[in-house]
Amino acid sequence: MMDRTLGRQTLAVSPGRIRIRDLYLDRLDLPAAMERIEGFLQEGWPHQVVTVNVRFVTIASQDPAFARVVNGAHMAVADGMPLIWLSRLMGAPIPQRITGSDLLFHCASLAAQRGHSIFLLGAAPGVAQEAAWRLVDTYPGLRIAGIHHGYFSQAEEQEVLRCIRQRRPQFLFVALGCPRQEFWIHRHLDELEVPVCVGIGGTLDVISGRLKRAPLWMQRCGLEWSYRLAQEPRRLWKRYIVEDVPTTFRIAGLALRQRLLARVDHR
Ligand code: UDP
Repeated sequence: MMDRTLGRQTLAVSPGRIRIRDLYLDRLDLPAAMERIEGFLQEGWPHQVVTVNVRFVTIASQDPAFARVVNGAHMAVADGMPLIWLSRLMGAPIPQRITGSDLLFHCASLAAQRGHSIFLLGAAPGVAQEAAWRLVDTYPGLRIAGIHHGYFSQAEEQEVLRCIRQRRPQFLFVALGCPRQEFWIHRHLDELEVPVCVGIGGTLDVISGRLKRAPLWMQRCGLEWSYRLAQEPRRLWKRYIVEDVPTTFRIAGLALRQRLLARVDHR
């Protein structure tokens, strides 16, 4: 592994993974990620999958406990074009952006073929139900083990956990927002005994039709955040303008310096 320290910041690459500030990401395309997930199903014991975007990098830089949870996950895919571009700049390209909805659709398709079941947890009341109907429409035969909204109290949490355990799904998709969903899966992974647990952020809102996904050209240009911002400006302006955009520029600066240093080294 090449590991080059730039002041207090480190960027590193290895054949299968890349480190961007405090977080490690797997350099996988979607077929390879799905192959890993099939492996998780075969192993049968619980696995955590994280879909990392710039927000994760921002939060991890302020909260080492969050970085430990993400780095301890069994698979970390890159869900953000800035991370893909940065990986290219660092000379260790991540082949493809993989979003929460990519994973949800592909896992739902796999589950429908194999007779596995999925559990959807999170979002406002009614949203997971709507998303479940759309998934069953798209993948006839898909078994929905259960659904639960994401606004349960501490007192209701035991009931939610009991419900998931009882239904014994092969897949659990958790949409409680980052970082809550990552901490939640991490904390309950062993007791839930679900082979594949994935944090999916706002995916259920999009699949249910409650929020619209950005057009493809915006997704490809890394502008999906601006589309989300336009839909929920009051809630999201601080997240994107004050935190995530500056984080992206900081990482880009590091990656550029690393590239220049690597050039000097090779002379
Ligand atoms: N959410 C939830 N419970 C909460 C807070 C949020 O179920 O206590 C849901 C919210 O309704 C939304 C999802 O979490 O469906 C993702 O929220 P956000 O857009 O903040 O997260 P991100 O996509 O950035 O991870």
